[in-house]
Amino acid sequence: MHPQRIRTVLAVSAGFCVFATLAFAQAPAAAPFTSHQLKPNVYWIEGGGGNSGVIVGDKGVIIVDAKTTPAGGKELLDNVAKITPKPVTTVILTHSDGDHVNGLASFPAGITIIAHENNKKEQEAALASGGRGAPPADHLPTQVIAKNKTSLKIDGVKVELYHWAPAHTSGDLVVYFPSEKIVFTGDIIAAQLPDPLIHLEKHGSSEGWIATAKGIVALNAEQYIPGHGNVQSKEDIRKRLSGAEEKRAKIKDLVAQGKSLDDIRTAVGDAPPAAGRGGRGPAFPTFTEVVYRELTNKTGA
Ligand SMILES: [Zn+2]
Repeated sequence: MHPQRIRTVLAVSAGFCVFATLAFAQAPAAAPFTSHQLKPNVYWIEGGGGNSGVIVGDKGVIIVDAKTTPAGGKELLDNVAKITPKPVTTVILTHSDGDHVNGLASFPAGITIIAHENNKKEQEAALASGGRGAPPADHLPTQVIAKNKTSLKIDGVKVELYHWAPAHTSGDLVVYFPSEKIVFTGDIIAAQLPDPLIHLEKHGSSEGWIATAKGIVALNAEQYIPGHGNVQSKEDIRKRLSGAEEKRAKIKDLVAQGKSLDDIRTAVGDAPPAAGRGGRGPAFPTFTEVVYRELTNKTGA
């Protein structure tokens, strides 16, 4: 796909993750929801967009990420109701992409919605520009996080929220439950993709991704729930980190030698950007293209 076309599609699909849009393009039927128990009080639920976390507190439930659509949000709540009769009181958002946020439309009014301040700004911008993928206006974040580390106790549950640097987006939050040694990474880790997925249009950063992945690895955790795909170990994250560091260093060398994006793609064995079926779906720039753009300020066109 021509880069200009890629940028146009990116703009049109702002607020939607590649996974959601590819899912729409390829398979209108949503993936089935499946609940997985990690600890007596902690679950993750796959299906309907990004992975969600469910943490059962003393009196209520904390959710991490809220699925793609109002129907998906409702199905998530139905699945939570099978786990516990306690009400959902708090949602923590890992980033602003629609496949993690827009299911909030089906959540009760008056709940606490925690997000990084840049996540809220991105949602407000998406609302202002309107169109498909805009978040529900009546469920914007109620509590914004601006610090690199925030420790909270919510309904008897200890939570630490981290934002080391812009990575997948400029509004990422890594959600760590220290007592359970569990981390929800959001799309900083998308397990089915070989390389980091970085949204330059939301001011994500490959350098920031590396700093963030180092922070994630350093947490005293045993289970990492990615934004998409299956549970990862610390070693899985470490491998992704070293792979990305090596690839970025190699691209940097080649850029310094004045190589073109096409030459660099060939040299690092870059996969063609993922596109929707029949070329109708959107494609996001590969990690190689993101790093090239960052280092050259060029689009590679
Ligand atoms: Zn995302």
